[in-house]
Formats: sequence, structure tokens, C-alpha cells
Amino acid sequence: MAEPRVVVYPGSFDPLTLGHEDIARRCLRFADKLIVAVARTATQQKDRLFSVEERVAMIEECFTDEPRVEVAEFSGLLVDFCRKIGAQIVVRGLRAVSDFEYEFQMALMNRSLWPELEMVFMAPAGKYTFLSASLVREVASLGGDISRFVSPPVLRRLEERIDH
Ligand code: ADP
Repeated sequence: MAEPRVVVYPGSFDPLTLGHEDIARRCLRFADKLIVAVARTATQQKDRLFSVEERVAMIEECFTDEPRVEVAEFSGLLVDFCRKIGAQIVVRGLRAVSDFEYEFQMALMNRSLWPELEMVFMAPAGKYTFLSASLVREVASLGGDISRFVSPPVLRRLEERIDH
């Protein structure tokens, strides 16, 4: 029997949005197992809202219906994490041209670090192309309605966090 195809979807997921979820569910069309990997080491400067542990817990709650999704955290290089767990495919979402330059550089850098790794880029449903975790954090912190952009477990935690 062929080896199961393990795909890694890395990011900060602070918090998981419906855009992330859309990409993850699309991956399940070609992945036997999808590992949503929360990066402990931030690659781009971002203000943090949830701890890595909280993010992992939230993502698990959003995928209780999907046994092929696992949630993990990693620190250090993505390629080292992938090597360790035996995954050779990494998925990233592309929202707009603005994502392209950074993603393209990272893909080529990762390839030079570990040539066995393949990066796959996926487009989300059109209605999520404007969505980012940072925008969700910002709108939520200013009291805006973000219920259309995140799943109920994420919404609940955002409301708890921001009410205080
Ligand atoms: P963000 O940029 O929202 O803070 P992350 O750093 O957690 O998100 O990104 C993880 C991956 O998910 C990246 O490849 C990012 O481009 C992708 N992504 C984030 N939001 C969306 C979206 N709305 N649609 C498609 N891909 C997305």
C-alpha cells in the first residue's frame, strides 16, 4: 500500500479564520492526513492575541468533525519539523498578489534547506480573499461583528478575551 500522504499547513493562526479553515478543508481532497501546525516562532512581526496552546485548542475544536486533521505546534524551522514527522508537502494559502512575494521567497528558501519538500499554494473561496487573522483581531478589538469570519469556538474565545 502507498504511504499515506501527510500534508502540513503551517501558520500563526492567531486565531484560525474561516479562510484558514477553507484552505484546510480543500487540502483534505488530496491529503490523507493534514497537520495544522501552529508556529511558536513568529516569522513576521505580529501582535499576539492567543497563546500557542489556546490556538491549538481552538483549531482542534473547529475540526472535531474531521478525524484526518491533527493539530501540532512547532518551533524553529518549518523544514526541520516536516522532516521530523516525515511530511514532504506544505500548503500555504494565497489571498492576493500581496502574499505572493513573501511566499515565493519562503518556498525557494525552504527548498534550498530541504530539496525533498514541495510547497503547494492554494486559493481560498473568493469570499475569504480579503480575510486575515490580524484584521479579525483588529475588528474584534474595536467591537465589530466578526461572526461571519470565524467558527463558533473561535468566536466564543474572542468574545471572552476582548470583553475583559
Ligand atoms: P494571517 O496572515 O491571517 O495572520 P497566518 O500567518 O496564520 O495567517 O497564515 C497561515 C497561512 O494561511 C498562510 O499561508 C496565509 O497566506 C494563509 N491564509 C491566511 N488567511 C487566509 C485566507 N483568508 N485565505 C487563504 N489563505 C489564508
